[in-house]
Amino acid sequence: MELKVDLDKCTGCGTCVLACPFGAIEIVDGKAKIYESCVDCGACVDECPEDALLLGERVAGEAKVQDYRNVWVFAEQRDGALTKVSHQLMGKARELADILGARAEAVLLGHNVEALAQELVADGADVVYLAEDPLLEHYRTNAYASVLSDLIQSKKPEIVLFGATTVGRDLAPRISQRIYTGLTADCTGLDIDESERLLLQTRPAFGGNIMATIICPRHRPQMSTVRPGVMRAPQPDKTRQGVVERVPVTIDEEDLIVKIVEVVKEARRRVNLEDAKIIVSGGRGLGDPEGFKVIEQLAEALGGEVGASRAAVDAAWIDHDHQVGQTGKTVRPDLYVACGISGAIQHQAGMKESKFIVAINKDPGAPIFQIADVGIVGDLYKVIPEVIKQLKAVGAGSKL
Ligand SMILES: Cc1cc2nc3c(=O)[nH]c(=O)nc-3n(C[C@H](O)[C@H](O)[C@H](O)COP(=O)(O)OP(=O)(O)OC[C@H]3O[C@@H](n4cnc5c(N)ncnc54)[C@H](O)[C@@H]3O)c2cc1C
Repeated sequence: MELKVDLDKCTGCGTCVLACPFGAIEIVDGKAKIYESCVDCGACVDECPEDALLLGERVAGEAKVQDYRNVWVFAEQRDGALTKVSHQLMGKARELADILGARAEAVLLGHNVEALAQELVADGADVVYLAEDPLLEHYRTNAYASVLSDLIQSKKPEIVLFGATTVGRDLAPRISQRIYTGLTADCTGLDIDESERLLLQTRPAFGGNIMATIICPRHRPQMSTVRPGVMRAPQPDKTRQGVVERVPVTIDEEDLIVKIVEVVKEARRRVNLEDAKIIVSGGRGLGDPEGFKVIEQLAEALGGEVGASRAAVDAAWIDHDHQVGQTGKTVRPDLYVACGISGAIQHQAGMKESKFIVAINKDPGAPIFQIADVGIVGDLYKVIPEVIKQLKAVGAGSKL
């Protein structure tokens, strides 16, 4: 605990006891006493009328917040290929590092993955820390968390970014707990407060009704997970030069709780909405699951993928893989066609960056029309077959 009580100033008024959300303070013998359940949130510090509570910086060992420098990306790879979000984050890390006058660095874990380091350099990395070992071939929480936590503690980056993928969402919290720092999940925007060198981590809050910007002032590194598709991947510059630094791996199979017996690939076709150039999405306005047949026909005519609103997914009309929005995929296709979707803020959060938006809705007051480039007011069951007919007449699917 870094929270300290100045016993000379404390009057035992109990304001801090009421302010503490964790029940970690009591008044004992007329003075505030801090218990182990304190998480250093600082709520009591702000409320104390005597300024008797002091919160120090909390970083690993004896290091200070100022000792931490450079912006890191956990470069996630699967089967020897970098995930798209790793490229997107590397571009963002480059931007943030330039603002801070720091280095953009990547951490690459795996087995026989050295060739990927150059891709990260081309994306903007100045340094790639490469940890290779057969034990790191497939993601295992303990192994990855152990290597990455040790590296963070020895190199002291000020920012570490993870993709909000299944792996990133599993790994980042383990690391934040191990090295005792904060983590902001599912960020949709990252910026820098230059005067304080603080990472401004923006994400939807309260059901997506507000955007909250979260900071981590007293702990290092500042860590975020970022949803795939939110940031733009940089144009790779193959002429860039960077340093690849090998990191010794000291983990032992015996120390790992999980053993990988077999890797079984999912057989079903996965929709790839994040990369789709054209998406046709259906919502509750379809009326029933059969309605997705007409959505599929339009998607096929345009050469696109099928998306959906959460209402359609919740009604079990279509699999969650197709959901677009705050709790689904974030997409930015060239063309997004929203059919029978009202355009709730949570849906817009996942598609409003699309280059061209067409909305088909029978309610002229539907919010989706406020962000649509073209709005068609009408019954989708009449409009879509007509659109398909016109597309076929001009052979548009093949030209788009
Ligand atoms: C924490 C949280 C997270 C969420 N995450 C997501 C998310 O990721 N994605 C998401 O989509 N939602 C999400 N939601 C839900 C969101 O708030 C809306 O409830 C949802 O998007 C509504 O889906 P919809 O537009 O299909 O349905 P509705 O809002 O019911 O809209 C249906 C529309 O269809 C139109 N319509 C009806 N019949 C026809 C017809 N025959 N022809 C043309 N138009 C017709 C109606 O006029 C209406 O505008 C989230 C909500 C919360 C609280």
